[in-house]
Amino acid sequence: MDRADLQARAWDAAASVPDPEVPCVTVADLGILRSVDIDADGVAVARVTPTYSGCPATLAIELAVETALREAGFETRVERVLSPAWTTNWIGADAREKLREYGIAPPVEASGSIRSLFGETEVACPRCGSTETARVSEFGSTPCKAHYRCEACLEPFDYFKCI
Ligand SMILES: [Zn+2]
Repeated sequence: MDRADLQARAWDAAASVPDPEVPCVTVADLGILRSVDIDADGVAVARVTPTYSGCPATLAIELAVETALREAGFETRVERVLSPAWTTNWIGADAREKLREYGIAPPVEASGSIRSLFGETEVACPRCGSTETARVSEFGSTPCKAHYRCEACLEPFDYFKCI
């Protein structure tokens, strides 16, 4: 197997790791897994960028990626890459859809709406799509999320914070 094949196999193994906080999406979906390379010694080097510094899930993610690569038969090393900083723009379109189906409002990209001009985020309810939503608390089930309530269907939901 040449290096390109090995690299593709290593990427597939690492990319299949689910996010520990939002298991409906993988670390690759969220853009946390940046790359997997095979170095000169045949070691799979995975690069991981935390969603934000201090996120308690980062260590769990690094360990899970390392384990997945070892189980796929690789010697491995996981490196933490802090620059460029992770941004919610790295979350792919498929992953946004998966988050919504899971009941988590995906992060809103900078929009030109009136509310965003005043520093407010227009968060659409993942269940009914209404933007008549109110932030209940800055922190949801995990520090990466804020807790919201939909004024239209009255359902509470988590919003994946935009950073
Ligand atoms: Zn709703």
